[in-house]
Amino acid sequence: MSEHAASASAMAGFIAGLPKAELHVHLQGGASVETILELSRRHPHEGIPTDDAALREFYRFTDFDHFIRVYMDVNRLVKSADDVQSLVSGLGRDLARVNVRYAEVTVTVDSHLQAGIEPDALAEALTRGRADSLAMHDVEIAFTYDINGMDGHAGAERTIAWAEQFMPAGSTGFGIGGPEDGLPRRDYAPYFRRAREIGLASVPHAGETTGPESIRESIHALGAVRIGHGIAAAKDASLIRELVERGIVLEVCPTSNVRTRAVASLPEHPFPVLRAAGVRVTLNTDDPGMFDTDLVREFAIAHEVFGIDAEGLAGLARESVLASLAPPGTKARILAEIDEFAAGGPPA
Ligand SMILES: [Zn+2]
Repeated sequence: MSEHAASASAMAGFIAGLPKAELHVHLQGGASVETILELSRRHPHEGIPTDDAALREFYRFTDFDHFIRVYMDVNRLVKSADDVQSLVSGLGRDLARVNVRYAEVTVTVDSHLQAGIEPDALAEALTRGRADSLAMHDVEIAFTYDINGMDGHAGAERTIAWAEQFMPAGSTGFGIGGPEDGLPRRDYAPYFRRAREIGLASVPHAGETTGPESIRESIHALGAVRIGHGIAAAKDASLIRELVERGIVLEVCPTSNVRTRAVASLPEHPFPVLRAAGVRVTLNTDDPGMFDTDLVREFAIAHEVFGIDAEGLAGLARESVLASLAPPGTKARILAEIDEFAAGGPPA
């Protein structure tokens, strides 16, 4: 092996072994081929491939519209509380494989309610999936509930009303996702106020496909402590200053941004600009099953494309833990794991 190949493989081992946390991953978009196979075999009449090779082919997106169609098809497979439990425990298994120790998983409550799952059964399914994930894979999962912007205020009301009555242990965040255009964040302030009242932190998507204004509104009207994506901040020096001063964290998802064409290419991604400006940034996958990525891949991109060394990568892993909504004991445990691993030395 050449010296270069040896050091590349040492870095790959470092990234794979580094204990990590993930703050932005969607339950349905996170489903791997393995998990979808379990569901497609459970519901063989939905027309989704039930063998591995055909499903992998089905998952190979030709463009963004194709991605949306596949996403809707996969949604059709989630019909029962057992399906939701399978999604959560399957995600726990997949996260364990890339040494994610803790994850905040976004659940689009209303899409499950609209599929006919009873509200109490949904809460129980999340609880069972979370317990499976901890017991079988040693991955601690927390939940963020997001308003699907496409469903407007009626969907937002159903989401917060469910959380107020049914949310299970391990619920930590409240967000909004889906299209940003034409959905001013300030209009959703009452739902976020109610969420904060029941202890859910405000973690909305903003500045993914629209400009800096949606990020400002998320901070001022929704009380955001973190922003999903937030990459549009890179275009606005005064917003960057505000993010730095307030310590607001961006949940950045590089592969997702390129796959959805929010960013033209990885080398043009604003992650390094935001990081150099002192903004608190974290690395995330968004929809790893559908975007064919995982957190190891995102850390590898940070090294290979953004030029971040092993010490910097360990710093990013720590930042995700610090910026998480995990209990203090969980944070301390994972930070100690990261320190111990990183002390083993970055690759030469
Ligand atoms: Zn997202």
